[in-house]
Amino acid sequence: MFYNSGIPKGRGPFGGCPEGSALWRASPAFSLIHKTEDFMFEMKTSDGVVFFTSDILGVKHAFSTRIGGVSTLPHTAELNVSYTSGGDAGADSADIVTENRRRLAAACGIMPPYAAGDYIFTLATKQLHSDIIEYITPDNAANDFYCDGFVTDSPLVTVAVKTADCVPILLADAGAGIVSAIHAGWRGTAAGIAALAVEKMLRYGAKLHHIKAAIGPAIGTCCYTVAPDFKETFIKMMLKSRSEVTRASSEKAAEFFTVLNGTDRADLKAINRLILESSGIKSENIDICSLCTYCSPDLFYSHRRQGASFGVMGAIITPNPIDSDI
Ligand SMILES: [Zn+2]
Repeated sequence: MFYNSGIPKGRGPFGGCPEGSALWRASPAFSLIHKTEDFMFEMKTSDGVVFFTSDILGVKHAFSTRIGGVSTLPHTAELNVSYTSGGDAGADSADIVTENRRRLAAACGIMPPYAAGDYIFTLATKQLHSDIIEYITPDNAANDFYCDGFVTDSPLVTVAVKTADCVPILLADAGAGIVSAIHAGWRGTAAGIAALAVEKMLRYGAKLHHIKAAIGPAIGTCCYTVAPDFKETFIKMMLKSRSEVTRASSEKAAEFFTVLNGTDRADLKAINRLILESSGIKSENIDICSLCTYCSPDLFYSHRRQGASFGVMGAIITPNPIDSDI
């Protein structure tokens, strides 16, 4: 749970979210940092950009919110990072999205040497709700990618994923200089993309007991209602995963489907945590942001809340230590 560091309570971006309602303060011109009690997530602001970090990772990274960008369309305002999101209501211009991406990277101190080029960080051209994870180097960083995760061990590379309810996961072995960014909607979660990311990091030299994971803001069980047969479909998909760890986790994953107020719910954050733990990551090395994207309309975009026309947040990470110059 979060706590309020002396901030006056008031109506704010956490809306009716039971976990966040006490957090927000009345004034929008804030610079205070919110810190969790149980975990290590913090809400920070820099040059107007509001974002979350987890102290657990030990490298430069951020989970963005919708605050601090230059998008002016109602459904994408303010910090949309997708060139294509918007639906019938229209997408942001490329200039606006590029400026938003630049602001996000700069806010958390990510200033790679290639930032003057035509991209700020590597982000999939299209995410597929797949289990595909690409390995990124300075040579391929500007390519088009159709995937849902990245691994890199280059200090010149920053990788990112886009979400608007789905679960963003950032992983790092800071000592080995290997990081990963994962987009895990329900299909990606059931396919075991989190476990496959860990496997890929190990292949490039990460040490299992050194890997830290931060599970960012995503739709919570408070709002993630699912069909009655969803659980069965989900577990079947887990059993078909390419990841042995994920297949083996399917029985235990069933615990994270509940009925609340007469409606079936799923806890995607908890299932991803289970898969990461089953991969061998220590529980104390996994941080979870409890905030729900659906509940907090002033803070987060939400595909489910906004329908076809929505903006997109970014979760970005680089192997560079927090105190480095690049
Ligand atoms: Zn919610």
